[in-house]
Amino acid sequence: MKSPLETPEKQGAGESSAQPAKPAAQSVIDTSKMSAGKAAALDLAESSRDPLDERGSFASNLFIGRYDFDRIFPYPAQSAEDRAKGDPFLKQLREYLEANVDADEIDRTGEIPQKNIDELFSMGAFGIKIPTRYGGLGLSQVNYGRAAMLLGSWDANLTALVSAHQSIGVPQPLLIFGTEEQKTKYLPRVARKEISAFALTETDAGSDPANMSLRADATEDGSAFILNGEKLWCTNLIKAGVLVVMAKTPPKMVKGRERKQITAFIVEVDSPGLEITYRCHFMGLRALYNGIVKFTNVRVPRENMIAKEGQGLKVALTTLNTGRLTIPAACVGLSKRLLEICRKWAGERVQWGVPIGQHYAIAGKIAEMAGNVFAMEAMTFLTSALVDGKAGDLRIETAMCKMWATEATWRIADEAMQVRGGRGYETAQSLEGRGEEGIPVERFLRDCRINMIFEGSSEIMRLFIAREALDPHLKVGGAIFNTQLPTSERARAVFKSGKFYASWYPKQWMGASAGDLEKLHADLRPHVRYAAGASKRLARGLFHAMTRFGPKLDREQLLLARFVGIATELFAMSASCAFAQHKIESGEPVAEILSVATYFCRSARMRIDTQFAGVSLNADRAGYDLTQELLAGKHADLRKGIV
Ligand SMILES: Cc1cc2nc3c(=O)[nH]c(=O)nc-3n(C[C@H](O)[C@H](O)[C@H](O)COP(=O)(O)OP(=O)(O)OC[C@H]3O[C@@H](n4cnc5c(N)ncnc54)[C@H](O)[C@@H]3O)c2cc1C
Repeated sequence: MKSPLETPEKQGAGESSAQPAKPAAQSVIDTSKMSAGKAAALDLAESSRDPLDERGSFASNLFIGRYDFDRIFPYPAQSAEDRAKGDPFLKQLREYLEANVDADEIDRTGEIPQKNIDELFSMGAFGIKIPTRYGGLGLSQVNYGRAAMLLGSWDANLTALVSAHQSIGVPQPLLIFGTEEQKTKYLPRVARKEISAFALTETDAGSDPANMSLRADATEDGSAFILNGEKLWCTNLIKAGVLVVMAKTPPKMVKGRERKQITAFIVEVDSPGLEITYRCHFMGLRALYNGIVKFTNVRVPRENMIAKEGQGLKVALTTLNTGRLTIPAACVGLSKRLLEICRKWAGERVQWGVPIGQHYAIAGKIAEMAGNVFAMEAMTFLTSALVDGKAGDLRIETAMCKMWATEATWRIADEAMQVRGGRGYETAQSLEGRGEEGIPVERFLRDCRINMIFEGSSEIMRLFIAREALDPHLKVGGAIFNTQLPTSERARAVFKSGKFYASWYPKQWMGASAGDLEKLHADLRPHVRYAAGASKRLARGLFHAMTRFGPKLDREQLLLARFVGIATELFAMSASCAFAQHKIESGEPVAEILSVATYFCRSARMRIDTQFAGVSLNADRAGYDLTQELLAGKHADLRKGIV
């Protein structure tokens, strides 16, 4: 397979869809010097990874100094036809939420009224993307995102119920991997009457699924599997009729080495031996129907296996590649709501003689919120539209949306609490009890924190993006450092990569072009040009880090996180400029659009500069050593004087 580094700078429009039929990636990473646990985790992750589309994507190419603005500009806006298809449902959903869903009551009681669930089912809210022939609404990813945005602005518990069901529960993996029989049997059920859930996590297998211990053993006649073990934190479990369960099947020998196998199954909750043993409770999402499920000799027919034996992690990762877009879409909704709360309050609340929004400290927070809301919407709906257009491999974009939007939303919720002062910390019920408007900022803050942990924590998103960012380089030169390969192969790699980098590297010092920007408003052009230049600087930085750290670069997570952070900000800036132009052309007030988009770009550039500075000047090593001392029990003084 060619590396994207070796493909020409610009290519034709030969689109390909990121479907799971590609061959598994050839591992290019030397695992021989890693601990057994880390090597096993990496081996499994690598074997479940699809190779990146040869053309790369807009965001993945940023890491190799290729700035293909023409792939996201003009902004891939939703077509009028697609919008019209979604509008009636979205109108109905919006009216329903406002009139019938009391989010504060749901938070207080920890229960979503069954009536709400039934009515949302009959509206089609649990089968938004399921094709109409299977009883769903058959709407696009963008329309699904619009629904998530509405839900996210209103009630996080309902958002989680609806989203865990169809983004990671039975619908999404079946739509991608299911056989026709599985689709015919399960999709109508989950579209119209039965909630589903996704069970991957276990007590010892959180971010590291290779540690999974729930087993699925084939029966003697091979017609079924017997499941034994336990799953933790399964969202929707308490209400679910059917689950997607990831289980360990017997290991296989691959190239002389034993490789763990994870397989995905559809499991009926009423199967004999399946027991829901506990309902979990959390800081936020108080009405999450999340729990522990125990499997004791649960028989699952072979026809309930999703994809092939051993492809379970691939099912999970591929499902999440698009499933992950629901969370940022919901974050856009919540962030818009918080901005609206702050906008009103900062204009009304007078302290020290003026509305608090006229104090620079508060004005700065609100501007930052507005810029981030704009960028979040730009990135999320751009990526969603590209998914609808089957525009190739978008896993970097979706991971960036998830990581960036969840972190920005947490900061927005935190700052919204600060803007509301004591009222931000007070519950809606207490505010109402003393005659003020029950604005639930503390609920929003509690509810949104989990977004940075589930469906791939921020740390795991950074590792995932960094792995893909390094892929083109690993393909060219990874073999050099791989001590598991024969010397002759490593020598060939030295020659190949030397020849290659002699031509690639100097280009990263040459002037960058953002392409033809005639159709972009003049105020936005400098930001896009900056992004094109910064992409080359990013590519150089990554290359320098590779030459400095060699195969140990994967340990330098903080350094890699800076590169990932820079690329993500560049993606956010570029998406925002394209989005701004689209809005201007759609007749929205030019001055207003430019002020929010250019504010965002300026603040993103400041963050990018800080991250570039941190590449050479940082305290990473000192911090790492300090933590190891702490883990070893040193620094007893830091434990003194506490209870
Ligand atoms: C409310 C809630 C709902 C959930 N819903 C579901 C669900 O429906 N289905 C399901 O299967 N699971 C679900 N989960 C589980 C969730 O996906 C996990 O919590 C998540 O994957 C992280 O795993 P962990 O909590 O075990 O943390 P750990 O994996 O123990 O990680 C702890 C910390 O270490 C970091 N970390 C771990 N490995 C690395 C590494 N290699 N490098 C750097 N940092 C690392 C993590 O980012 C995290 O900050 C849910 C969890 C919660 C709390």
